[in-house]
Amino acid sequence: MAKASVKRNRIASEQLVLRTIYSTGQISRADIARATKLTPPTVSELVGKLLADGLIEEKGLAPSSSGRRGILLDVVDNSRQIIGIDLSREDFRGALTDLRGRTVHRVDLSLDGRDGEEALSLVYDLVNQLIASATKPILGIGIGAPGLIDPFDGILQQAVNLNWRYIPIRSLLYDRNNLPVYMANDCQLAALAEFTFGEDNGPQNDLPLVVIKLGWGVGAGIIVDGKLLHGSRVGTGEIGHVRVVDNGIQCACGNYGCLETVASIPAIMKQIKLSMNNDPNSSFHKFVKDQKELNTNIVVWALENGNNDMSKIIDGVGEALGIAASNLVGVLGSCHIMIHCSITCSYPLLIEKIRETLIQRTLPSLARATKLSSTSLGSDNVICGASALVLHHELAVL
Ligand SMILES: [Zn+2]
Repeated sequence: MAKASVKRNRIASEQLVLRTIYSTGQISRADIARATKLTPPTVSELVGKLLADGLIEEKGLAPSSSGRRGILLDVVDNSRQIIGIDLSREDFRGALTDLRGRTVHRVDLSLDGRDGEEALSLVYDLVNQLIASATKPILGIGIGAPGLIDPFDGILQQAVNLNWRYIPIRSLLYDRNNLPVYMANDCQLAALAEFTFGEDNGPQNDLPLVVIKLGWGVGAGIIVDGKLLHGSRVGTGEIGHVRVVDNGIQCACGNYGCLETVASIPAIMKQIKLSMNNDPNSSFHKFVKDQKELNTNIVVWALENGNNDMSKIIDGVGEALGIAASNLVGVLGSCHIMIHCSITCSYPLLIEKIRETLIQRTLPSLARATKLSSTSLGSDNVICGASALVLHHELAVL
């Protein structure tokens, strides 16, 4: 066998052993050999290498049964740290995580309306601060960014809100820090996070997983057969610009009636302001004194207090999402659709509205077999997904 291919096989076997320990936890060398079908001497040698690297440790003897008791091995979750970055929010957010995606240290830097080069400098600051705070070797940098991303070349092709066009983020950060850099669209990473670390999904669930994320814009991340769907490299899951309203209002993309004109956070705020400006008796006047102070907390408060005008707007959001969901079900078949939005938890009827629309607009049997829920991870989900992306590429444990 050629030298290169021997080396490749050895790396693949080492990754297989580490992946087995990572997914099983507390496992003996003999059980690793059984699970991987590698010979016991090969497993012993590879385990020795992983122990020397500090990635795994011995955790005492297996419970007594017949025969020899093996020593249990487990991954040292805090043996390395990963930098996860979320550029899809009004504050740029980053964290150091352990090998299970748990946050060890975080840094938030406010964007304060900056865009272009200034916003890019803020990314450099964020990464520098996280590197300076690391207490373990850093495995790599994962980035979730809004807009059109080429994850293969690490290029951000377009992010309208940040006024970024064709930014080679991977090479810019690699040249500065000499660390591996991986990136993907924020919605894709939200989906990867739920799939990898979420409570309500995982490899045991064989339905395709779709996470629809409502923020500045609306987008979807899709996981099929345990892998992120990349389609034609760029733009997979860009459902925000699919028309859901005939004769609707104009979108930033130039078209009319896009999902983003109804279901994004700015669109929800716009509808509240419109109601206040057009109707002096609008119930919004009772709790919004200054339109500049309008934020998602106020929306949540109004929903929790049974405000009908607010419910009506969010029902419209649910209907629009239901139309988008029906297109997804038409392509993927029945699937698990999760909604990530800061207001969904306070208004469970949103999920019901989506279901109602889905049943009306797609084959009812497929709609009924489709699972709808809110995401299980909180606002650090993109950071978790960025961390999972690095784990996948650097250690192949996922
Ligand atoms: Zn649009």
